[in-house]
Amino acid sequence: PNQSEANLRSPICCIMGHVDTGKTKLLDCIRGTNVQEGEAGGITQQIGATYFPAENIRERTKELKADAKLKVPGLLVIDTPGHESFTNLRSRGSGLCDIAILVVDIMHGLKPQTIESLNLLKMRNTKFIVALNKVDRLYGWKACRNAPIVKTMKQQSKDVQHEFNRRLTDIITQFKEQGLNTELYYKNKEMGETFSIVPTSAISGEGIPDLLLLLVQWTQKTMVDKLMYRNEVQCTVLEVKVVEGHGTTIDVVLVNGVLHEGDQIVGTYLHHKEIKAAQGIKITAQGLEHAIAGTSLYVVGSHDDLEDIKESAMEDVQSLLSRIDKSGEGVCVQASTLGSLEALLEFLKSPAVSIPVSVISIGPVHKKDVMKASVMLEKKREFATILAFDVKVTPEARELADKAGVKIFIADIIYHLFDQFKAYIDNLKE
Ligand code: GDP
Ligand code: MG
Repeated sequence: PNQSEANLRSPICCIMGHVDTGKTKLLDCIRGTNVQEGEAGGITQQIGATYFPAENIRERTKELKADAKLKVPGLLVIDTPGHESFTNLRSRGSGLCDIAILVVDIMHGLKPQTIESLNLLKMRNTKFIVALNKVDRLYGWKACRNAPIVKTMKQQSKDVQHEFNRRLTDIITQFKEQGLNTELYYKNKEMGETFSIVPTSAISGEGIPDLLLLLVQWTQKTMVDKLMYRNEVQCTVLEVKVVEGHGTTIDVVLVNGVLHEGDQIVGTYLHHKEIKAAQGIKITAQGLEHAIAGTSLYVVGSHDDLEDIKESAMEDVQSLLSRIDKSGEGVCVQASTLGSLEALLEFLKSPAVSIPVSVISIGPVHKKDVMKASVMLEKKREFATILAFDVKVTPEARELADKAGVKIFIADIIYHLFDQFKAYIDNLKE
């Protein structure tokens, strides 16, 4: 292989869509099948990310006889926990994901969260493939385990084929209403202009080979520049967690570069001598409780000035701090990641909503956050409120809030927070 072919990193793919469309099941299906067939070789599920080495993808797609020349070392798929915060994750200013799978349930079509996902993908200009999932639920479907979709379709009765086509046509129309051209992937002659639909079943595995092959072929064909492996470490914090017995750990996605054992990041980490991108990793170290989800991780090189690096690391957060209301009066907002906090602030600032913000924070709501919010009790009572997006509230924080009269609203859809807050304000006015 020539230099450029040998030097691509693994594409990062996120899987999105309405709740219960089968996002997690699709990943389970790919993983499970490989394990059952004794091909566990290298498939690892760390954090919410699953790494599929090229070897597994080759095996899984061999029936398609695509003679797939796999130039990428593998594929890293990130499962989103039912909402959009992963797409909001950035890696040094650009989106974390190179490509996305948008899952649509063939029985239900486009749903509110599908449209929310679509808008995010459009905004980030992220290309995606539609997995039209649950085809096995079509009445009279004959299962054809793990088979490519064209082969499967040929084995279905005329009635099933008719029903499939009817639903497909409906869904293509629904996409059209959202301003998007879509087409069955093997009929799609203008990839890029027209988005591809791959029918799948996460239960019986039909269409999974097609989905994997398409993901790999498309990324390595159209994203060579973006996927060019670089030595510079590019790493994004997905989640900060407290794990019993381990203290605080962070889950990160290594987008580019290599992390070595002993690298100075915010500490040291274990179990791997080195890890090459793209991979999902769990890191245990001292001082991680101050890590912020959605921000970049930096490695300090021997020629680097630590202070310069600290400054770069703060840039992500600084830009958000500038959005806080100067008057010092406003609600407290708290979110799970930097990206989701950014999205929430953007929403609150919009003219139709226009809720001032005095304090921002990332991670679970603790007692200290309630204390900060309680400052507003004397200034403007309705602002003694915490709008918590996709984060937990500790029992102590809840108790203190109840005692002090601080309101905490929690939701995992941004506009639900607004609805709750608005209802509260209206109620106060009465
Ligand atoms: P998620 O919320 O998108 O992650 O959805 P899940 O993966 O949790 O799946 C939701 C439900 O749909 C579960 O009960 C799955 O077993 C079921 N499911 C997912 N994919 C399929 C499929 O392809 N066919 C059928 N019949 N059921 C599915
Ligand atoms: Mg899920």
